[in-house]
Amino acid sequence: MRFRRLSAIAVSAVAALTLAACGGGGESSSGGGAEPAAASDFPEGSTMARLAQQGSITIGTKFDQPGFGLQGLDGKPAGFDVEIAKYVASKLGISEDNIEWVETPSQVREEVIEQGRVDMVVATYTINDERKQRVTFAGPYYEAGQALMVRSDDTTVTGPDSLRAAGTRVCSVAGSTPSQEILNYVDESQLTLFDVYSKCADALRTNQVDAVTTDNVILLGFVADSDGAFKLAGDTFTKEPYGIGIKKGDVAFCEFINQALQEAQSSGAYAEAWESTAGQIAEVTTPSLPELEPCA
Ligand code: GLU
Repeated sequence: MRFRRLSAIAVSAVAALTLAACGGGGESSSGGGAEPAAASDFPEGSTMARLAQQGSITIGTKFDQPGFGLQGLDGKPAGFDVEIAKYVASKLGISEDNIEWVETPSQVREEVIEQGRVDMVVATYTINDERKQRVTFAGPYYEAGQALMVRSDDTTVTGPDSLRAAGTRVCSVAGSTPSQEILNYVDESQLTLFDVYSKCADALRTNQVDAVTTDNVILLGFVADSDGAFKLAGDTFTKEPYGIGIKKGDVAFCEFINQALQEAQSSGAYAEAWESTAGQIAEVTTPSLPELEPCA
């Protein structure tokens, strides 16, 4: 019900924006919680000016990860990543109705940024040196850690060190950091890679694999959705700081995003974003914004 009412408000916000645009004025009046911002608020030629001017943004995220980016019946994704992305968009004067969401599986994240098919990627995207060769990261806005998910009746998997000897069949996603890290613990023949984690969860359910590995908070989303069929095994064994990927070298946009993240933290929007999404399912206390990295 609440959702329906919000949709109705969203529709009128779009109408208001359309009218404002037709009026030819330079101001954008945006509904749905977005703050008024105009291209003239930003340095000429900047990504912020361009996006504010066009009044829309294209954002890459996940569509199958409960708590972070999960596509709803309305076709739009919901989750912590989505809320963070919406907040950044709002600081450009762009309301959520003017966001185009693009499903962005792990393996294509660098490529879609490089090709300019999205303006930013907010998709459980670990900041690391290899990726920094191709994209610039704002953030981090969260720190996860790699973990293992198994069927609830499993007693053999106790952590990554238990996998090789037991011949555990492990599933992960191509192009992800966990899929690389796990090769320190298993033979390649033990590892199955899909494009998205929901396929790993399905394979675990149907006994085609024995464990799924990725970030703890992603796995907790699948555990919560499994009706008791899955559990986490052992502790986290890496650090996965989540960044917002943008075109390499766009330092001004990166700094703008970092400022938005800091504002989200101080205004309480960050905690609210967590509590209304991942915080509903994950057994983790509400985080605070980690220390931001300098933009480069
Ligand atoms: N955070 C890890 C990564 O960026 C795993 C999650 C994912 O694949 O999105 O590779």
